[in-house]
Amino acid sequence: MSEQFVVVGAGIAGLATAAALQRRGCSVTVLEARTDTSSGAGISIWPNALAALDEIGLGDAVRAAGGRVTGGALRWYDGSWLRRPATERLTTALGEPLVVVRRGTLADILAGALTPGTIRFGTTVTALLLTAEGVRLSLSDNSDIHAAAVVGADGTHSVVAQHLNGTLPHRYAGYTAWRGVARYRLDAELAGETLAPGAVVGHVPLGDDLTYWFASERAPEGRFAPEGELPYLATRFGGWADPVSAIIGATAPGEVLRNDLYDRASARQWTRGPVVLVGDAAHPMRPHLGQGGCQGLEDAATLAFLVAQAPDIAGAFSHFAATRRPRTTSLVRESALIGKLLNLRPAALSALAGRASGLIPEAVLTRHLATVAAGSAFRLPY
Ligand SMILES: Cc1cc2nc3c(=O)[nH]c(=O)nc-3n(C[C@H](O)[C@H](O)[C@H](O)COP(=O)(O)OP(=O)(O)OC[C@H]3O[C@@H](n4cnc5c(N)ncnc54)[C@H](O)[C@@H]3O)c2cc1C
Repeated sequence: MSEQFVVVGAGIAGLATAAALQRRGCSVTVLEARTDTSSGAGISIWPNALAALDEIGLGDAVRAAGGRVTGGALRWYDGSWLRRPATERLTTALGEPLVVVRRGTLADILAGALTPGTIRFGTTVTALLLTAEGVRLSLSDNSDIHAAAVVGADGTHSVVAQHLNGTLPHRYAGYTAWRGVARYRLDAELAGETLAPGAVVGHVPLGDDLTYWFASERAPEGRFAPEGELPYLATRFGGWADPVSAIIGATAPGEVLRNDLYDRASARQWTRGPVVLVGDAAHPMRPHLGQGGCQGLEDAATLAFLVAQAPDIAGAFSHFAATRRPRTTSLVRESALIGKLLNLRPAALSALAGRASGLIPEAVLTRHLATVAAGSAFRLPY
Protein backbone atom coordinates (compact mmCIF):
# COMPACT_ATOMS: atom_id res chain seq x y z
CA MET A 1 0.00 0.00 0.00
CA SER A 2 1.40 3.47 -0.85
CA GLU A 3 0.35 6.81 0.60
CA GLN A 4 1.30 10.42 -0.10
CA PHE A 5 1.71 11.49 3.57
CA VAL A 6 1.75 9.26 6.62
CA VAL A 7 1.44 11.06 9.95
CA VAL A 8 2.62 8.94 12.90
CA GLY A 9 0.55 9.77 16.01
CA ALA A 10 -2.95 11.12 16.53
CA GLY A 11 -2.24 13.57 19.36
CA ILE A 12 -2.88 17.29 18.99
CA ALA A 13 0.05 17.83 16.60
CA GLY A 14 -0.67 14.78 14.43
CA LEU A 15 -4.40 15.43 14.08
CA ALA A 16 -3.86 19.12 13.33
CA THR A 17 -1.11 18.38 10.78
CA ALA A 18 -3.29 15.82 9.04
CA ALA A 19 -6.22 18.26 8.94
CA ALA A 20 -4.00 21.08 7.64
CA LEU A 21 -2.46 18.88 4.91
CA GLN A 22 -5.85 17.58 3.78
CA ARG A 23 -7.15 21.14 3.62
CA ARG A 24 -4.26 21.87 1.22
CA GLY A 25 -5.35 18.96 -0.98
CA CYS A 26 -2.85 16.30 0.20
CA SER A 27 -3.78 12.67 0.74
CA VAL A 28 -2.97 11.68 4.34
CA THR A 29 -3.17 8.61 6.56
CA VAL A 30 -2.64 8.85 10.34
CA LEU A 31 -1.24 5.82 12.17
CA GLU A 32 -2.01 5.75 15.90
CA ALA A 33 -0.71 3.11 18.32
CA ARG A 34 -3.55 3.40 20.80
CA THR A 35 -7.06 2.11 20.20
CA ASP A 36 -8.55 4.74 22.50
CA THR A 37 -7.07 8.23 22.35
CA SER A 38 -9.59 9.90 24.67
CA SER A 39 -7.86 12.07 27.29
CA GLY A 40 -9.00 13.94 30.35
CA ALA A 41 -8.55 17.40 31.89
CA GLY A 42 -8.25 20.63 29.94
CA ILE A 43 -5.73 22.58 27.90
CA SER A 44 -5.06 26.28 27.37
CA ILE A 45 -5.14 27.36 23.74
CA TRP A 46 -3.44 30.74 23.53
CA PRO A 47 -4.21 33.28 20.78
CA ASN A 48 -1.07 32.31 18.79
CA ALA A 49 -2.50 28.80 18.48
CA LEU A 50 -5.99 30.14 17.73
CA ALA A 51 -4.41 32.06 14.83
CA ALA A 52 -2.79 28.80 13.64
CA LEU A 53 -6.16 27.04 13.96
CA ASP A 54 -7.72 29.81 11.86
CA GLU A 55 -5.29 28.82 9.07
CA ILE A 56 -6.69 25.28 9.30
CA GLY A 57 -10.27 26.57 9.41
CA LEU A 58 -10.88 25.39 12.99
CA GLY A 59 -10.26 28.47 15.14
CA ASP A 60 -13.90 29.41 15.62
CA ALA A 61 -14.93 25.85 16.49
CA VAL A 62 -12.33 25.83 19.30
CA ARG A 63 -13.27 29.34 20.48
CA ALA A 64 -16.92 28.26 20.71
CA ALA A 65 -16.09 25.06 22.61
CA GLY A 66 -14.20 26.49 25.58
CA GLY A 67 -14.00 28.98 28.39
CA ARG A 68 -12.38 32.39 27.83
CA VAL A 69 -9.66 33.67 30.12
CA THR A 70 -9.41 37.43 30.49
CA GLY A 71 -7.52 37.70 33.80
CA GLY A 72 -3.92 36.95 34.77
CA ALA A 73 -3.99 36.88 38.55
CA LEU A 74 -1.00 35.91 40.67
CA ARG A 75 -1.77 35.30 44.33
CA TRP A 76 -0.03 33.98 47.40
CA TYR A 77 -1.63 30.95 49.03
CA ASP A 78 -3.05 33.05 51.86
CA GLY A 79 -5.13 34.94 49.25
CA SER A 80 -2.98 38.08 49.10
CA TRP A 81 -2.30 39.49 45.63
CA LEU A 82 1.15 39.35 44.01
CA ARG A 83 -0.18 40.69 40.74
CA ARG A 84 -3.66 41.99 39.99
CA PRO A 85 -3.76 43.10 36.34
CA ALA A 86 -6.37 45.61 35.21
CA THR A 87 -9.41 43.89 33.69
CA GLU A 88 -8.96 43.07 30.00
CA ARG A 89 -5.23 43.95 30.09
CA LEU A 90 -4.34 40.40 29.00
CA THR A 91 -6.93 40.43 26.22
CA THR A 92 -5.66 43.75 24.92
CA ALA A 93 -2.06 42.53 24.93
CA LEU A 94 -2.83 39.22 23.23
CA GLY A 95 -5.49 40.41 20.81
CA GLU A 96 -8.20 38.10 22.21
CA PRO A 97 -8.79 35.94 25.30
CA LEU A 98 -7.03 32.61 25.57
CA VAL A 99 -9.42 29.66 25.38
CA VAL A 100 -9.53 26.67 27.73
CA VAL A 101 -11.08 23.48 26.37
CA ARG A 102 -11.36 19.89 27.42
CA ARG A 103 -8.64 17.90 25.67
CA GLY A 104 -11.23 15.41 24.44
CA THR A 105 -13.23 18.23 22.85
CA LEU A 106 -10.15 19.60 21.08
CA ALA A 107 -9.28 16.12 19.77
CA ASP A 108 -12.87 15.67 18.52
CA ILE A 109 -12.76 19.01 16.67
CA LEU A 110 -9.42 18.16 15.02
CA ALA A 111 -10.41 14.57 14.16
CA GLY A 112 -13.83 15.77 12.93
CA ALA A 113 -12.08 17.85 10.25
CA LEU A 114 -10.46 14.75 8.71
CA THR A 115 -11.82 12.74 5.81
CA PRO A 116 -13.55 9.67 7.33
CA GLY A 117 -11.18 6.71 7.59
CA THR A 118 -8.01 8.84 7.78
CA ILE A 119 -6.92 7.44 11.18
CA ARG A 120 -5.82 3.81 11.57
CA PHE A 121 -6.04 3.13 15.33
CA GLY A 122 -4.14 0.31 17.02
CA THR A 123 -1.29 0.63 14.50
CA THR A 124 2.20 1.07 15.96
CA VAL A 125 5.11 2.13 13.79
CA THR A 126 8.25 0.24 14.80
CA ALA A 127 10.84 1.40 12.23
CA LEU A 128 11.40 3.59 9.18
CA LEU A 129 13.55 2.95 6.12
CA LEU A 130 14.30 5.52 3.42
CA THR A 131 13.79 4.06 -0.08
CA ALA A 132 14.19 5.40 -3.60
CA GLU A 133 10.46 6.23 -3.67
CA GLY A 134 10.10 7.65 -0.17
CA VAL A 135 9.80 5.85 3.16
CA ARG A 136 8.89 2.31 4.21
CA LEU A 137 7.29 2.14 7.68
CA SER A 138 7.33 -1.19 9.53
CA LEU A 139 4.30 -1.84 11.70
CA SER A 140 3.94 -3.91 14.87
CA ASP A 141 1.76 -6.51 13.06
CA ASN A 142 4.77 -7.25 10.79
CA SER A 143 3.18 -5.55 7.79
CA ASP A 144 4.59 -2.42 6.22
CA ILE A 145 3.33 0.65 4.45
CA HIS A 146 5.02 2.97 1.93
CA ALA A 147 4.69 6.72 1.89
CA ALA A 148 6.08 9.55 -0.19
CA ALA A 149 6.62 11.46 3.10
CA VAL A 150 6.36 10.85 6.85
CA VAL A 151 5.47 13.33 9.60
CA GLY A 152 6.57 12.15 13.06
CA ALA A 153 3.94 13.44 15.50
CA ASP A 154 4.55 10.58 17.93
CA GLY A 155 5.31 12.54 21.08
CA THR A 156 8.28 12.53 23.44
CA HIS A 157 9.11 8.83 22.93
CA SER A 158 9.01 9.33 19.16
CA VAL A 159 10.24 6.45 16.99
CA VAL A 160 10.58 8.95 14.13
CA ALA A 161 12.76 11.28 16.23
CA GLN A 162 14.96 8.28 17.13
CA HIS A 163 15.20 7.33 13.45
CA LEU A 164 16.59 10.82 12.81
CA ASN A 165 18.67 11.28 15.99
CA GLY A 166 19.38 7.96 17.65
CA THR A 167 18.47 7.57 21.33
CA LEU A 168 17.10 10.72 23.02
CA PRO A 169 17.49 10.42 26.80
CA HIS A 170 14.72 11.41 29.26
CA ARG A 171 15.48 12.86 32.69
CA TYR A 172 13.02 13.34 35.55
CA ALA A 173 12.52 17.08 36.15
CA GLY A 174 12.16 16.53 39.93
CA TYR A 175 8.50 17.42 40.24
CA THR A 176 5.08 16.07 39.47
CA ALA A 177 1.89 17.63 38.09
CA TRP A 178 -1.79 17.07 38.70
CA ARG A 179 -4.58 18.26 36.44
CA GLY A 180 -8.31 18.25 37.01
CA VAL A 181 -11.69 19.71 36.19
CA ALA A 182 -13.89 21.04 39.02
CA ARG A 183 -17.59 21.74 38.99
CA TYR A 184 -16.92 25.28 40.15
CA ARG A 185 -17.75 28.72 38.76
CA LEU A 186 -14.53 30.75 38.88
CA ASP A 187 -14.61 34.50 39.37
CA ALA A 188 -13.05 35.82 36.11
CA GLU A 189 -10.65 38.02 38.09
CA LEU A 190 -9.16 34.94 39.85
CA ALA A 191 -8.13 33.18 36.64
CA GLY A 192 -4.37 32.70 36.97
CA GLU A 193 -2.04 31.09 39.48
CA THR A 194 -1.62 30.74 43.24
CA LEU A 195 1.86 30.19 44.67
CA ALA A 196 3.34 28.83 47.90
CA PRO A 197 6.85 27.68 48.82
CA GLY A 198 7.54 24.71 46.52
CA ALA A 199 4.06 24.49 44.98
CA VAL A 200 1.92 26.23 42.38
CA VAL A 201 -1.74 25.83 41.45
CA GLY A 202 -3.24 27.27 38.26
CA HIS A 203 -6.99 27.80 37.76
CA VAL A 204 -8.86 28.95 34.67
CA PRO A 205 -12.53 28.85 33.62
CA LEU A 206 -13.61 25.98 31.38
CA GLY A 207 -16.98 27.44 30.46
CA ASP A 208 -19.45 28.94 32.93
CA ASP A 209 -19.67 26.25 35.60
CA LEU A 210 -16.38 24.39 35.28
CA THR A 211 -12.81 25.23 36.26
CA TYR A 212 -9.71 23.57 34.80
CA TRP A 213 -6.89 23.46 37.33
CA PHE A 214 -3.32 22.17 37.50
CA ALA A 215 -0.88 21.85 40.39
CA SER A 216 2.75 20.91 40.75
CA GLU A 217 5.24 20.24 43.53
CA ARG A 218 8.57 18.48 44.03
CA ALA A 219 8.18 14.73 44.60
CA PRO A 220 10.26 11.57 44.17
CA GLU A 221 9.83 10.00 40.74
CA GLY A 222 7.11 7.41 40.21
CA ARG A 223 5.14 8.00 43.42
CA PHE A 224 1.37 7.88 43.75
CA ALA A 225 -0.60 8.90 46.84
CA PRO A 226 -1.56 5.64 48.64
CA GLU A 227 -4.80 7.22 49.89
CA GLY A 228 -5.69 8.46 46.38
CA GLU A 229 -4.60 11.66 44.63
CA LEU A 230 -7.68 13.71 45.48
CA PRO A 231 -7.58 13.06 49.27
CA TYR A 232 -3.86 13.91 49.18
CA LEU A 233 -4.53 17.17 47.32
CA ALA A 234 -7.42 18.04 49.65
CA THR A 235 -4.99 17.81 52.58
CA ARG A 236 -2.08 19.47 50.75
CA PHE A 237 -4.09 22.45 49.53
CA GLY A 238 -6.87 22.43 52.14
CA GLY A 239 -5.41 25.40 54.01
CA TRP A 240 -5.04 27.56 50.89
CA ALA A 241 -7.38 30.46 50.30
CA ASP A 242 -10.18 30.08 47.79
CA PRO A 243 -10.42 29.43 44.95
CA VAL A 244 -7.78 26.68 45.46
CA SER A 245 -9.28 24.73 48.35
CA ALA A 246 -12.83 25.14 46.97
CA ILE A 247 -11.74 23.93 43.53
CA ILE A 248 -10.09 20.78 44.90
CA GLY A 249 -13.22 20.15 46.97
CA ALA A 250 -15.41 20.48 43.87
CA THR A 251 -13.42 17.93 41.81
CA ALA A 252 -14.62 14.36 41.27
CA PRO A 253 -11.95 11.62 41.73
CA GLY A 254 -12.29 10.53 38.08
CA GLU A 255 -11.38 14.04 36.92
CA VAL A 256 -7.82 14.00 38.35
CA LEU A 257 -4.68 13.05 36.39
CA ARG A 258 -1.14 12.85 37.75
CA ASN A 259 2.03 12.87 35.63
CA ASP A 260 5.68 13.11 36.61
CA LEU A 261 7.41 15.69 34.40
CA TYR A 262 10.43 14.79 32.25
CA ASP A 263 12.94 16.66 30.14
CA ARG A 264 13.79 14.93 26.90
CA ALA A 265 16.96 15.79 25.02
CA SER A 266 16.13 18.08 22.14
CA ALA A 267 16.09 16.60 18.65
CA ARG A 268 19.10 18.02 16.81
CA GLN A 269 17.78 16.67 13.54
CA TRP A 270 14.17 17.61 12.77
CA THR A 271 14.20 16.43 9.18
CA ARG A 272 16.03 14.32 6.66
CA GLY A 273 14.72 13.99 3.12
CA PRO A 274 11.00 13.12 3.20
CA VAL A 275 10.82 12.68 7.02
CA VAL A 276 10.03 15.48 9.47
CA LEU A 277 9.06 15.93 13.14
CA VAL A 278 6.28 18.08 14.63
CA GLY A 279 4.92 18.68 18.15
CA ASP A 280 6.49 17.07 21.22
CA ALA A 281 8.46 14.70 19.00
CA ALA A 282 10.45 17.73 17.80
CA HIS A 283 10.38 20.14 20.75
CA PRO A 284 9.07 18.72 24.07
CA MET A 285 8.80 21.42 26.72
CA ARG A 286 7.77 21.74 30.35
CA PRO A 287 4.15 22.86 30.77
CA HIS A 288 4.71 26.23 32.49
CA LEU A 289 3.97 28.45 29.50
CA GLY A 290 1.01 26.31 28.37
CA GLN A 291 2.59 26.27 24.90
CA GLY A 292 3.47 22.60 24.15
CA GLY A 293 0.23 21.80 22.35
CA CYS A 294 -0.05 25.36 21.00
CA GLN A 295 3.33 25.01 19.28
CA GLY A 296 2.15 21.70 17.78
CA LEU A 297 -0.77 23.64 16.26
CA GLU A 298 1.62 26.30 14.90
CA ASP A 299 3.75 23.47 13.43
CA ALA A 300 0.71 21.99 11.71
CA ALA A 301 -0.40 25.20 9.98
CA THR A 302 3.18 26.11 9.00
CA LEU A 303 4.10 22.69 7.63
CA ALA A 304 0.99 22.44 5.44
CA PHE A 305 1.53 25.99 4.17
CA LEU A 306 5.13 25.24 3.16
CA VAL A 307 4.22 21.90 1.55
CA ALA A 308 1.68 23.77 -0.60
CA GLN A 309 4.27 26.43 -1.58
CA ALA A 310 7.45 24.41 -2.17
CA PRO A 311 8.14 22.47 -5.37
CA ASP A 312 9.42 19.43 -3.43
CA ILE A 313 8.58 17.86 -0.08
CA ALA A 314 12.16 17.66 1.24
CA GLY A 315 12.62 21.36 0.54
CA ALA A 316 9.38 22.20 2.35
CA PHE A 317 10.47 20.10 5.36
CA SER A 318 13.89 21.83 5.52
CA HIS A 319 12.26 25.24 5.34
CA PHE A 320 9.83 24.16 8.07
CA ALA A 321 12.66 23.12 10.42
CA ALA A 322 14.61 26.33 9.78
CA THR A 323 11.50 28.45 10.44
CA ARG A 324 10.14 26.69 13.49
CA ARG A 325 13.29 25.79 15.40
CA PRO A 326 14.25 29.27 16.68
CA ARG A 327 10.77 30.02 18.04
CA THR A 328 10.29 26.67 19.76
CA THR A 329 13.85 26.57 21.13
CA SER A 330 13.33 29.82 23.03
CA LEU A 331 10.02 28.53 24.46
CA VAL A 332 11.64 25.23 25.53
CA ARG A 333 14.30 27.25 27.39
CA GLU A 334 11.86 29.68 28.96
CA SER A 335 9.49 26.98 30.24
CA ALA A 336 12.43 25.04 31.72
CA LEU A 337 13.66 28.20 33.45
CA ILE A 338 10.23 28.91 34.98
CA GLY A 339 10.01 25.31 36.16
CA LYS A 340 13.46 25.52 37.78
CA LEU A 341 12.64 28.79 39.57
CA LEU A 342 9.30 27.49 40.87
CA ASN A 343 10.96 24.34 42.18
CA LEU A 344 14.18 25.71 43.66
CA ARG A 345 15.57 24.02 46.76
CA PRO A 346 15.13 24.93 49.58
CA ALA A 347 11.43 25.76 49.09
CA ALA A 348 12.01 29.21 50.65
CA LEU A 349 14.06 30.08 47.56
CA SER A 350 11.22 29.08 45.26
CA ALA A 351 8.92 31.24 47.41
CA LEU A 352 11.29 34.16 46.94
CA ALA A 353 11.40 33.63 43.17
CA GLY A 354 7.61 33.36 43.01
CA ARG A 355 7.03 36.47 45.07
CA ALA A 356 9.69 38.38 43.12
CA SER A 357 7.91 37.56 39.85
CA GLY A 358 5.01 39.62 41.18
CA LEU A 359 7.33 42.63 41.12
CA ILE A 360 7.94 42.52 37.36
CA PRO A 361 6.20 45.60 35.94
CA GLU A 362 2.91 44.71 34.31
CA ALA A 363 3.82 46.43 31.04
CA VAL A 364 7.08 44.46 30.74
CA LEU A 365 5.31 41.19 31.44
CA THR A 366 2.45 41.71 28.99
CA ARG A 367 4.85 42.89 26.27
CA HIS A 368 6.88 39.71 26.68
CA LEU A 369 3.79 37.48 26.86
CA ALA A 370 2.56 39.01 23.60
CA THR A 371 5.76 37.86 21.83
CA VAL A 372 5.01 34.32 23.00
CA ALA A 373 1.26 34.02 22.82
CA ALA A 374 -0.49 36.90 21.01
CA GLY A 375 -2.31 36.10 17.78
CA SER A 376 0.36 38.14 15.99
CA ALA A 377 3.13 35.91 17.43
CA PHE A 378 2.11 33.21 14.95
CA ARG A 379 3.39 34.09 11.51
CA LEU A 380 3.54 32.04 8.32
CA PRO A 381 6.99 32.21 6.71
CA TYR A 382 6.22 34.44 3.70
C1 LIG B 1 0.62 18.93 33.08
C2 LIG B 1 0.64 19.40 31.65
C3 LIG B 1 -0.10 20.52 31.29
C4 LIG B 1 -0.05 21.01 29.98
N1 LIG B 1 -0.78 22.11 29.64
C5 LIG B 1 -0.74 22.59 28.38
C6 LIG B 1 -1.52 23.72 28.01
O1 LIG B 1 -2.28 24.28 28.81
N2 LIG B 1 -1.42 24.19 26.73
C7 LIG B 1 -0.62 23.56 25.80
O2 LIG B 1 -0.57 24.03 24.65
N3 LIG B 1 0.12 22.49 26.13
C8 LIG B 1 0.07 21.98 27.38
N4 LIG B 1 0.79 20.87 27.71
C9 LIG B 1 1.64 20.23 26.67
C10 LIG B 1 0.79 19.39 25.71
O3 LIG B 1 -0.01 18.49 26.43
C11 LIG B 1 1.68 18.62 24.75
O4 LIG B 1 2.67 19.47 24.22
C12 LIG B 1 0.87 18.03 23.61
O5 LIG B 1 -0.19 17.24 24.07
C13 LIG B 1 1.77 17.20 22.70
O6 LIG B 1 1.01 16.76 21.62
P1 LIG B 1 1.67 15.84 20.52
O7 LIG B 1 0.58 15.52 19.54
O8 LIG B 1 2.92 16.44 20.00
O9 LIG B 1 2.15 14.52 21.27
P2 LIG B 1 1.28 13.43 22.08
O10 LIG B 1 0.10 14.03 22.71
O11 LIG B 1 2.23 12.71 22.96
O12 LIG B 1 0.73 12.45 20.96
C14 LIG B 1 1.56 11.48 20.37
C15 LIG B 1 0.66 10.38 19.81
O13 LIG B 1 1.47 9.47 19.07
C16 LIG B 1 1.11 8.14 19.39
N5 LIG B 1 2.29 7.30 19.14
C17 LIG B 1 3.45 7.31 19.86
N6 LIG B 1 4.32 6.44 19.32
C18 LIG B 1 3.71 5.88 18.25
C19 LIG B 1 4.10 4.90 17.28
N7 LIG B 1 5.33 4.33 17.32
N8 LIG B 1 3.22 4.53 16.31
C20 LIG B 1 1.98 5.10 16.25
N9 LIG B 1 1.56 6.04 17.16
C21 LIG B 1 2.41 6.41 18.12
C22 LIG B 1 0.71 8.21 20.86
O14 LIG B 1 -0.13 7.12 21.22
C23 LIG B 1 -0.02 9.56 20.93
O15 LIG B 1 -1.38 9.44 20.65
C24 LIG B 1 0.76 20.35 29.00
C25 LIG B 1 1.48 19.21 29.36
C26 LIG B 1 1.42 18.73 30.67
C27 LIG B 1 2.22 17.50 31.01
